[in-house]
Amino acid sequence: MQKVFDYIEKNKDKYLDFWMDICNAEGTAEDKPSMDAVADKIEEFARGLNIFVERVPFDTCGDFLIVDTLHTAEESGVCFLAHMDTVHKKGAFGYPPVKKEGDKLIGPGVIDCKGGVPIALLTMMALIDSGYDKNCRLLLTSDEEVSNRFGGQKEMDVIKAAVTGFKAAFNCEVARVGEVVVSRKGILRYRMDITGKAAHAGIDYFSGVSAVREAAHKILALESKSVEGGITYNSGIINGGTMSNIVPERCEITIDVRVSNSEELEKAKAVLEEIANKSFVEGTKTELVLVSQRQPMLHNEDTENLFLHLKTISEKYGLGTLVPIESGGGSDSAYTQLAGVPSVCAVGATGDFCHTINEYADIDSLTLRAKLLAAATLEME
Ligand SMILES: [Zn+2]
Repeated sequence: MQKVFDYIEKNKDKYLDFWMDICNAEGTAEDKPSMDAVADKIEEFARGLNIFVERVPFDTCGDFLIVDTLHTAEESGVCFLAHMDTVHKKGAFGYPPVKKEGDKLIGPGVIDCKGGVPIALLTMMALIDSGYDKNCRLLLTSDEEVSNRFGGQKEMDVIKAAVTGFKAAFNCEVARVGEVVVSRKGILRYRMDITGKAAHAGIDYFSGVSAVREAAHKILALESKSVEGGITYNSGIINGGTMSNIVPERCEITIDVRVSNSEELEKAKAVLEEIANKSFVEGTKTELVLVSQRQPMLHNEDTENLFLHLKTISEKYGLGTLVPIESGGGSDSAYTQLAGVPSVCAVGATGDFCHTINEYADIDSLTLRAKLLAAATLEME
C-alpha cells in the first residue's frame, strides 16, 4: 500500500492545480454553456492522463463525462461520481473565484462538489499505477444541484447504465472530516398554480376570489403535516397578486418535500394531491405540477457493509476513524443504489459552509480521501 500512498503524495500538486482550475471555471446547472466549459476543462485534463473519456451530450443541460481507467478490461472495479455544477452565481466569490489560504481552499464548488473530481481521478491513477487490473470509472453529471431537473429520464438512464456492474459506487460529494453519508432523503419539488378571480379591491371586493388567500390556507394545511424525523413540507417560494388594490387572481407556491423511503414518497404525493384538490376559498382552482423528484438513498445492508469496509481501512492505515451520517439532502447515490450497486455518499473533499460564499475545503482531504478510496478498492472482495 505504501507505493499507492507514495504515488498520491508525489502527484498531489498537479491535482491541486487542477482542482483550483475547475473551480475557477464557474458554472451553474441553468447555464449549459458554462457547464460545457467546465466539462471541456475536465475532459482535457483526463485525456492528458491517457485514459478513456466519453462525452455524453445533452440538449437540456451540460454534457456529462464518463472517464474510464481501463476501458477494455473485462472486469469492472469501482466507480466514482461527482457533479460539475455549483449553486453559486458567477462572480459570487469575486475574482479570481478561488483563493488559497493556508491549508484551505475557498471558492465556488471547492467541496460541493468539484473537489470530488481531482480526488476520484487521483485515486484512479494511483490504482492504475499499482497494477489494479479492473476498470474504474468516474461519472460526472451537470445538474445535481437542481435535483436532475434538466436531464430528465435520459439522465436517470445514463447514470444507471454507467454504474451497473461495478462493485461499489463512491459518490465524491461534499463531506465533513471523518464523516461518510449512508442515507439521504428523497426530494419532491412541486408547484401549486392557484387561480381565483380578479376584482377591484374597493368597488367590487366581494365578487373577487383571492388566489393568495387560498394559497395561505393550503400552506397552513400542508405544513401542519410536517413531522420531525418524518416527512417535511416546505413552501419555499410564493408568488401571487399584482397590485395591492386588486383581489389576486393568481398565486403560485413552490414546495420542497423530503422523504426517507418510498412509502413516505407515496404518502407525500397523496397529501399534496388531497390539498391541491380541496378548495378552501370557494371558486378557486389549483393545478398541481411535479417539478422534479429524487428518490431517497436507503441505509441498506450493502451500504452498511461498504461503510464498515471504509471505516476498517481508514483505521488500519491511520487515516482517521469514520462515522456514518444520515443526511437530509438528496444525491445521485439514490440512482446508483437503484442500479443495484453498493453505494456510499460524501466521500469527496471535506470542509464546510457549502451553498454559501464561505465555502471552503481542507486541502489535505485531497490526499486523505484518495488514499482511503484507493486502499478500500485494493482490499475489496
Ligand atoms: Zn450542493
